[in-house]
Amino acid sequence: MKINENFLKVESSYLFSTVAKKQREYQQAHPDKEVIRLSIGDVTQPLAGAVIEAMHKAVDEMGSAETFRGYPPEYGYDFIIEAVRKNDYEARGIDIKADEIFLSDGAKSDCGNIGDIFSTDNKVAICDPVYPVYLDTTVMAGRSGDKGEDGLYKNVIYMPCLRENNFMPQLPEETPDIIYLCFPNNPIGVAASKDELTKWVNYALKNNCVILYDSAYEAFITDYSPKSIYEIDGAKKCAIEFRSFSKTAGFTGMRCGYTVVPHELCFYGTELNALWARRQATKFNGVSYITQRAAEAVYSEEGKKQTGEIIAYYQRNARAIYDGLTAAGFTCFGAVNSPYVWLEVPAGMTSWEFFDDLLSKCQVVGTPGSGFGKSGEGYLRLTAFGNYEKTLEAIDRIKRVYGK
Ligand SMILES: *Cc1c(COP(=O)(O)O)cnc(C)c1O
Repeated sequence: MKINENFLKVESSYLFSTVAKKQREYQQAHPDKEVIRLSIGDVTQPLAGAVIEAMHKAVDEMGSAETFRGYPPEYGYDFIIEAVRKNDYEARGIDIKADEIFLSDGAKSDCGNIGDIFSTDNKVAICDPVYPVYLDTTVMAGRSGDKGEDGLYKNVIYMPCLRENNFMPQLPEETPDIIYLCFPNNPIGVAASKDELTKWVNYALKNNCVILYDSAYEAFITDYSPKSIYEIDGAKKCAIEFRSFSKTAGFTGMRCGYTVVPHELCFYGTELNALWARRQATKFNGVSYITQRAAEAVYSEEGKKQTGEIIAYYQRNARAIYDGLTAAGFTCFGAVNSPYVWLEVPAGMTSWEFFDDLLSKCQVVGTPGSGFGKSGEGYLRLTAFGNYEKTLEAIDRIKRVYGK
């Protein structure tokens, strides 16, 4: 028996466990202090009333022989697929067919699992800093090569997202096969404009690449930035899109998302749609009926209104963090189209040094930018997913300590 040795190459100390450990240790040493967490990438507000109501109804259906349901269809019930197609695509002028939508238990699994349908010889390009799932699953699949002395995997194409380029990745010098993109992105919290995305779609079409587009934060877009990559001409020929109800409707504990694989996406005569359908039918058994009814309710009139109010609550937090810390003399990015604020740490400090400083002086927990990749060094991510009053309290403490 041999293990998959690629797993040994994956970064072992997971960023968020280190953050949690430091917080726990501080709290144990200072039991009288109240620590405020602006580090969590998880929602905190309860589910919308319309969602709860739909679930209660679905539970009752499961309790009666006439309406009981067993295994769901692998790719989702028609009612939810239709709701997705109409609301997320048709309403925005995008023609996506029902059989191009695959319901799942969330975007995280799909973003990783999608690698099953591609050759392990493919070269992957990834933004830096980045949501760790794209890189770690690339490593597990054996596409990364070994880690060099510089801490970077030899076979991965890193695309730094730096302030001088408005945190947008630049087209890579070496041509990749697979390009992971996520906008509005995590951790920086910036959206890509239509022009920016057009540049990537044209590049992928010209170079025969596939774009894996994570649109988990589209609900936070407040300007004209595209919510879907398919708003760009030609994207159906080069892009797979991942969506999630997690941040859109507070479903992080419910588990539901979907992946779009257009029929036009075809390489050497093979539709990727057929491969993903085969993969899902074999390795995935569908989303629970109750959860699918819950997701459907997100698209009802009441559901849209209620989830919109929850998003607005987080957006108010994001705005407050951005404005408050900018007033205190910090340089901040993100927030406008995202629940994240990307904060430049004070000169002379590393991300982790500022993390420790903030914890000990303000009892506020952030996430060090360097934990998301080399180019995240010098930044700290604060999230808007907390309670409003606590968020204001945290901003106040930071102002008192660091304010100019
Ligand atoms: C939160 C998040 C997701 C959502 O993942 P789920 O598995 O659907 O909860 C996807 N992508 C990014 C970048 C995220 O931050």
